[in-house]
Amino acid sequence: MPRKQFAPRAATRALHGRTFGAFDAPVVEPVVQSVTYRFANSSEVVRYAEGDESVYLYSRYSNPTTHKLEEVLAALSNVESAQVFSSGMAAITTTVLSLAPQGSEIVSGPSLYGGTYRFFRDILPHHGVNVSYFNRRRLESLGRLITKRTRIVYFETPTNPTLSLVPIAKLVDQVRAAEKRLRTRIVIIIDNTFATILNQDPFALGVDVVVESATKYLGGHHDVLAGVVTGPAHLLSGIRAYAKLLGGTPDPFASFLLHRSLKTLHLRIRCQNESAIELARYLEGLPKVKRVLYPGLPSHPDHAIAREQMRGFGGMITIEVPGGLKGAIRVADSLHIAVNATSLGGVDTLVSIPVITSHVNMSKKELDRHGVGPGMLRISVGVEDVEDLKEDFDQALKKL
Ligand SMILES: *Cc1c(COP(=O)(O)O)cnc(C)c1O
Repeated sequence: MPRKQFAPRAATRALHGRTFGAFDAPVVEPVVQSVTYRFANSSEVVRYAEGDESVYLYSRYSNPTTHKLEEVLAALSNVESAQVFSSGMAAITTTVLSLAPQGSEIVSGPSLYGGTYRFFRDILPHHGVNVSYFNRRRLESLGRLITKRTRIVYFETPTNPTLSLVPIAKLVDQVRAAEKRLRTRIVIIIDNTFATILNQDPFALGVDVVVESATKYLGGHHDVLAGVVTGPAHLLSGIRAYAKLLGGTPDPFASFLLHRSLKTLHLRIRCQNESAIELARYLEGLPKVKRVLYPGLPSHPDHAIAREQMRGFGGMITIEVPGGLKGAIRVADSLHIAVNATSLGGVDTLVSIPVITSHVNMSKKELDRHGVGPGMLRISVGVEDVEDLKEDFDQALKKL
């Protein structure tokens, strides 16, 4: 794959340029660990009361460290606005609640992060919001699920753990056609956690709002829990108003860590992309591996879609080993470098077994629908030397 410039120049300026006001000296963005702010005099309070958003009042509303991070995130995605949250789930739930009033409907992709799926299934009905699910393989039928009440079309790609893809441009076309037919306005939301804006730009393909668990690739070190929403200012202002009241705003120190992490995002993503494709090819050649699922491999069912809409194929690989769950456990417990732990996207390589983690307690039928088998192992490739990773998986697979 040709090497492309990952981040727009505006992001570089926002990340490395001069910092705000009184703190122009430090090279590293200071963490303003303050909940409240001293007013120079009461005319500042008056300005705030009159709607001047640049006045800092209380950190649930806005904080300089978080604000600076939001500027960087908006620049990175080349959009007007970003809002940072205390977790990916806070970002997702706040965004959906702000855009889906009582009596409205959501049309969703079939494979979702477990927390999002449970929010849709267990909580939204209590608020009078109904969710239906489209078939990824029959996207032309998506239009039929959309009604005059539909406010949101929500989806993920690549999905967990089979790394199946939804063709983004085709989905957007279907939604826009339905909008015209019904004379409604629908907000298309993607959870871009697995790809990040560096590997996949949903805005360029017509998506309205991007939600993301910053706990994963954006944070990238398994040490900060956060979420992000990016998009146009007219949509973000409503989401921001909900965030103020629902309260899922981040602690300034989390924002500081995330800002620090973004300086190496392009390096980490490039390294993880390169290592993942190399490891995927290597694993595909091993006799003890039944199947390797990686969008960058020609053997992946959605490889053609991946080539069309992804700039890089990401750092997630799923393999299937013989012997079902016992086999997967045997491999996971024999690894020395890769760590058996949940989560993904960080500098340490992690493995997890979907049937006992993300897809636990699902019926055989549900597992089949999601394409999940008991012998599957999901690998989140870190930044270790790829030769060490190959050796580690090789020795662990030999224990089978
Ligand atoms: C982890 C994850 C989330 C939830 O994010 P948290 O930061 O854990 O709240 C949402 N979507 C996807 C795809 C995820 O992987």
